[in-house]
Amino acid sequence: MERGAQAKADATPPTCPVCQQKLTRLSGEHPRTFQSRYGSITVQRTRGYCKRCRKWRVPADTALGLEESAGYSPAVQEMAALLASKMPVEDASAVLEHLTGVKMPRATLDREARRQGERAQAVRTELDQKAANQRAQLELTLEPYQMIIQMDAWNIRERDGWGQSAALRRQGQEPERWHWVYTGTVFRLDHRGKTAGGRPVISERGFVATRQGIEALREQLHAEALRRGLGQAAGVLVIGDGAVWIWRLADDRFPQARQRLDFYHALQHLAAVGRALFGEDKEKYRAWLQPLVRQLKNQSAIKVVRQLAAALAEMAAGAAAQTVTKEVAYFQEHQARMDYRAGRRAGEPIGSGPVEATCRQTQCRFKRPGQFWSKRGDEALLCLEMFWRNNRWHLLFPHTLFHAARN
Ligand SMILES: [Zn+2]
Repeated sequence: MERGAQAKADATPPTCPVCQQKLTRLSGEHPRTFQSRYGSITVQRTRGYCKRCRKWRVPADTALGLEESAGYSPAVQEMAALLASKMPVEDASAVLEHLTGVKMPRATLDREARRQGERAQAVRTELDQKAANQRAQLELTLEPYQMIIQMDAWNIRERDGWGQSAALRRQGQEPERWHWVYTGTVFRLDHRGKTAGGRPVISERGFVATRQGIEALREQLHAEALRRGLGQAAGVLVIGDGAVWIWRLADDRFPQARQRLDFYHALQHLAAVGRALFGEDKEKYRAWLQPLVRQLKNQSAIKVVRQLAAALAEMAAGAAAQTVTKEVAYFQEHQARMDYRAGRRAGEPIGSGPVEATCRQTQCRFKRPGQFWSKRGDEALLCLEMFWRNNRWHLLFPHTLFHAARN
């Protein structure tokens, strides 16, 4: 491995890795030692001066993937990134040593993983810009397809103003502890199928998750949709729960899309009306709810909304009537998004199950007890996780293209 690394260093032309200018005042035999997958390695490199950048450069470091690194080979950098995005850092350090023999202290692993995550964010920005610029290109597709976009959000607990809680409270401010992670998923309807065992699967699917707010999600999700064929889609369908931001984002970035409220959220609101009407009487509640659920699923939302309004008209004023008033308004607002019968006939999903599953999986990693990160750290790790899920890991770590598993 050392010989291979040395050969690569020797073959690197003496040009500036930043501006490609030929380097001057070259001198050789500058040693550098770094940790590889198989132990410590030392290579001799050539150093030169770039007149344009006015900086000393070591082009071999760039060629070997050592630039800015804490002295670990790209393979070890990748291990740190992958392990830290999959498990708590204290476990990651122990697992790394157990599986590979590579020793990397917790703090170093954490720092290295974040550095990789920030690098991933830069690559993501570049990819997203490229996707946005290529949108005009139309490819010929054999079959017209529908594109499904789903969005959701969940909370991370965070230590904002760590150690300052008491001081903040004295000033009358409650320290903020929960932060939203905005998540989206994109897939083509014809990529949805079933395994041999009958389990539903989506063969190709794009994922987005960000801590940087709704606007960041909007741009990242749009770019992901473009990469997954938004420009060629015959139709687009956005599915989400009742959250206002979802529909605003859809109106804004996917104005051509149809919108559908997650069926199970609609059911929850229907159940809330039932509880307000019948309280503890489970039998009456069920007898009332079941036909409405069937109607909502198989017939039309208009019928259901009409019955809710009629029930409300017969109620006496009070807390229960207030609840029902609120729910009737909810159904009226989302009526056009409850085309479940048409959706089922077209073989489209009526629920946002896939994005909720994505949220759950990511939550498992981010909601372990005792884990508190910063917003910056979260975003770096989320970004790594999305490169992995989107099968773009090799864009961050090109050497993994040569893994046997990929061939
Ligand atoms: Zn230069």
